[in-house]
Amino acid sequence: MTIPGAESYRQAAAILRASRHNVAFTGAGISVESGIPPFRGEDGLWARHDPVFLDIDYFHEHPLESWKEIREIFYDFFGKAAPNEAHKQLANLECRGLLHSIITQNIDNLHQEAGSRSVIEFHGTSQSLVCTRCGATVRTDAVDVDMLPPRCSKCNGILKPDFPFFGEPIAKAVHDRSLAEVERAGALLVIGTTGEIMPASVFPLIAKSRGAKIVEINVEESKYTHTVTDVFIRDRATVAMRTLCNLLCPGQ
Ligand code: ZN
Repeated sequence: MTIPGAESYRQAAAILRASRHNVAFTGAGISVESGIPPFRGEDGLWARHDPVFLDIDYFHEHPLESWKEIREIFYDFFGKAAPNEAHKQLANLECRGLLHSIITQNIDNLHQEAGSRSVIEFHGTSQSLVCTRCGATVRTDAVDVDMLPPRCSKCNGILKPDFPFFGEPIAKAVHDRSLAEVERAGALLVIGTTGEIMPASVFPLIAKSRGAKIVEINVEESKYTHTVTDVFIRDRATVAMRTLCNLLCPGQ
């Protein structure tokens, strides 16, 4: 059977084998096959929800209204999602020493659920909440959202999901860790991200400028494809990762 784009898979496998430090950079596209809609695009969350509820100023002024949307998306949607084969194959590659870290823009925890250990959550996580008054953090699943907005058990401050809202900066420690991985990478495996969201979108450009090879897996061409990408695999993330891992780890 002929694999579409078989040569691109062979080239991608050769790049990952030759590099000593492989880093994956993932975005919404890897979780779509787990049933999590992307934020952008026709079927995206922003087509049905006004993104203002994730604006930090709006949240402080209207915590109840924000929390109604947060509950629907981050509890009802994300709570039901499970990792797909692309997440699992990345964990498999880490286990075999072929992947050193994942920088993800997703907040769905699916890389960790699939078994990946070295995961940098560039945009934080939906798995914990942080108190807007005292800074305490609490696991999301330990918080009752029947009464909104949920409040801190220590100081009664309002709890907020532990990821940056619009108008909030990326945590410096997370940014620095990500940058260090990107600068060290011999190969960057870009999966399911088209480079629309700053500042994460510059990572493939930085990696390339430091001499890394860029392998891109996307269903459509992105702004990376004709600029920094060395090998473009146009496939769904699950199919691409299964095929690539069959080449890298035959007989697994
Ligand atoms: Zn508190």
